[in-house]
Amino acid sequence: MSEQAHFQRVALIGFGLIGGSIARAAKLQGLASEIVTTARSEKTRARVAELGIVDQVVATNAEAVKDADLVILCIPVGACGAVAQEIAAHLKPGAIVSDVGSVKGAVVRDMVPHLPKGIHFVPAHPVAGTEHSGPDSGFAELFINRWCILTPPEDTDAAATEHLRAFWAAMGAKVEIMTPDHHDLVLAITSHLPHLIAYTIVGTADELAQVTESEVIKFSAGGFRDFTRIAASDPTMWRDVFLANKEAVLEMLGTFTEDLAKLTRAIRRGDGEALFDHFTRTRAIRRGIVEIGQDSAAPDFGRLAALKKP
Ligand code: NAP
Repeated sequence: MSEQAHFQRVALIGFGLIGGSIARAAKLQGLASEIVTTARSEKTRARVAELGIVDQVVATNAEAVKDADLVILCIPVGACGAVAQEIAAHLKPGAIVSDVGSVKGAVVRDMVPHLPKGIHFVPAHPVAGTEHSGPDSGFAELFINRWCILTPPEDTDAAATEHLRAFWAAMGAKVEIMTPDHHDLVLAITSHLPHLIAYTIVGTADELAQVTESEVIKFSAGGFRDFTRIAASDPTMWRDVFLANKEAVLEMLGTFTEDLAKLTRAIRRGDGEALFDHFTRTRAIRRGIVEIGQDSAAPDFGRLAALKKP
C-alpha cells in the first residue's frame, strides 16, 4: 500500500454493491485506519454490523462523517443533494468528500451548494458493477482493472484529487480525470443507452403474446439472456440515472434511433452488403474491448469457467 493512498478515517454513506466493495477492498489493501459506515435502513445497518467488515456502523449520516478524512456517498444519484445538505455542518475541515454516482453533472450541481469552504469535493464514478445490490453483493475485486473517473471542479486542490486517485488506484482501478459533462456524454452511450435498450427488449419480449414465457427462458441463450442480466439492474439506481442524465441520454437516443432506421431499411431492402459491413465494424469494436482487457474472450463471456468454479 502506498502512503499516498491511505486515509485515517473513511466514512461510507450507503453500504450496497459499491459501498460494500469499497469497504472490502480498502480493508484488504489497508487503505484506512478506520472505516465507519451507515445506511438508510436499520435492516441494512444490522446486516453490515453482522458482516464485520467495517470498524463501526452508526445510525446517522452526521455521526458517520464526524472526524472523517474521506467521506464517500455510495447512494443513489437522486439522494446525493439531500445527504450533502445533511452532513455539511458535521464535516471535518479539510476533509475530502466524494461519491460514486453513475451521473456526474447532476451530482455536482446538487452537492456543491451545500459543501462548506475548506472541504475538497472530488466526485468519482467507478465504471464497474454487477446487477446485484445490497450489503452482501460487494466484493474486494470489483474495481480491479476497471476505470474510475474523477470529475473534480476546476478549482479543486490538486493534492486532494491526487490523494483520491491514489486511493482508487490502490483498489486496482485505472483512474482518469474529465469534466462532468464529458463524463455524462461518454457514459450515456457506453452504459446508460445499453441499459435502456436492455430494459426495452426484455419488456417487449415479456409483452409478446405469441412467445410463451417458457420459450423466452428456454431459448434465452440466443442473445436475450445477456440483456436480461443488464435489465435485472437496480430499479431505483437506474430511474435516477435516466432522470439525472436526461439531456445526454436523449441526444444519444436520437443518434441510435437514426442508426436503427438505417438497419431497418437495409433489412427491408434486402441490402446484405450494408448489414455485413455494419456487423464487421461492430465485431472489430468487440475485439478492441477484449484486447484492452475490459472483457473476456472466453466462449460464453467466461460463464462456463465461472460455473466450474467450486
Ligand atoms: P445499492 O446496492 O442499492 O446500495 C445503495 C445504498 O444506498 C444502500 O445502503 C441504501 O440503504 C442507501 N440508500 C438508498 N437510498 C438512499 C437515500 N435516499 N438516502 C440515503 N441512503 C440511501 O446501490 P449501489 O449499486 O451500491 O449503487 C450506489 C451508487 O453507485 C449509485 O449512485 C450508482 O449510480 C453508483 N454505481 C452503481 C454501479 C452498479 O453497477 N450498481 C456501478 C457504478 C456506480 P438501504 O439499504 O438501507 O436502503
